Amino acid sequence: MSIFQRTTIALARSPAMGRAMRAVAARTSLAQRFVGGADVDAAVRTAQRLRDAHGIRASLFYLGEYVAEPAAIEHNVSQAINACGALAAAGLDVHVSVDPTAIGYMASDALGEANARRIGQAVRQPAGQATGQATGQEAGAGRNWMVLDMEDAGIRERTCALHRGLLQAGLPVGLTLQARRRRTPEDLAWAIRQQTSLRLVKGAFPERALDHAGRDRIDHAYLDAAAIMLSREAREAGFYPVFGTHDDRLAGAIMALARERGWSPDAFEFEMLYGVRPDWQLALRGLGYNVRVYLPFGGDWWPYAIRRVGENPGNAWLLARSLKAD
Ligand code: FAD
Repeated sequence: MSIFQRTTIALARSPAMGRAMRAVAARTSLAQRFVGGADVDAAVRTAQRLRDAHGIRASLFYLGEYVAEPAAIEHNVSQAINACGALAAAGLDVHVSVDPTAIGYMASDALGEANARRIGQAVRQPAGQATGQATGQEAGAGRNWMVLDMEDAGIRERTCALHRGLLQAGLPVGLTLQARRRRTPEDLAWAIRQQTSLRLVKGAFPERALDHAGRDRIDHAYLDAAAIMLSREAREAGFYPVFGTHDDRLAGAIMALARERGWSPDAFEFEMLYGVRPDWQLALRGLGYNVRVYLPFGGDWWPYAIRRVGENPGNAWLLARSLKAD
């Protein structure tokens, strides 16, 4: 891990920095670029605008990770559940992304799992939606999903176990896997045979002992994993591949592979972070591919936004502008 990456992750985790940054005006330029709304209503309006204007779907993510206090955990869980109801009421597909460390795993595994089930049930049957009113469960892109984010290596095993447990309970749950980790192909081998969704990302939590070394090797690992996700076995199992990347070279290779193997553009999707490469998001839509944005909302934007600086040092100027403006 580079010193720059280490520093940004340390800054993201620092409670003192978090407190200081929350005291700064909530909508600074860095937050404005990457956060889709201060509350659930604003986030749903953003999602609606993206869908109506561009046919781009959204996955709502309530900001707040690495939380151990019971009240804060409950708050995060209820925000995710509220998001499900609000998305359904707006006629959008019910899709939320969840960090295990935000919903109880920092307190106990049992609490984290119980809360994940509550959110999974809200995704399957959002408040206000009549029983049996399916929201397109058979169609991949428009299907309701709760997707588990993959955080640092310390919680990887428990996140994979949670995914398996919720799937066995019949809940619509997907998982994020990080191409940088050398063991990802083993996790993939099981998942592609299930009716689940996997979001493949390069990985934002470098861990030298566990990772492929260097950008080129990680990119190769990404494409190797994509080839497994686009296998015939995966398609026959009803697996739904999601490619979480802004890398147009990788996306180009994935599109070619999917075509070659007979996957229709409807049977998988590209997902990008809200505010990152919006031009490329529109270009992919123009080519007829499913595009979703990962749309964070809420006030606790600091750890999320500083991680975007870690991915792209070019975002540091936005941070500098944010601080200067206040
Ligand atoms: P890169 O090679 O990093 O970037 C490709 C291009 O996009 C470059 O031109 C680059 O400048 C531009 N770009 C990339 N990121 C940014 C940015 N922040 N701002 C501006 N330009 C940028 N990581 C996890 O570890 N766990 C997760 O659960 C997780 N969930 C994710 C969900 C989604 C939908 C996405 C898109 C990413 C997620 N990530 C997650 C982050 C991911 O691991 C990468 O750190 C991030 O996506 C950057 O990698 P890239 O594939 O876009 O390629």
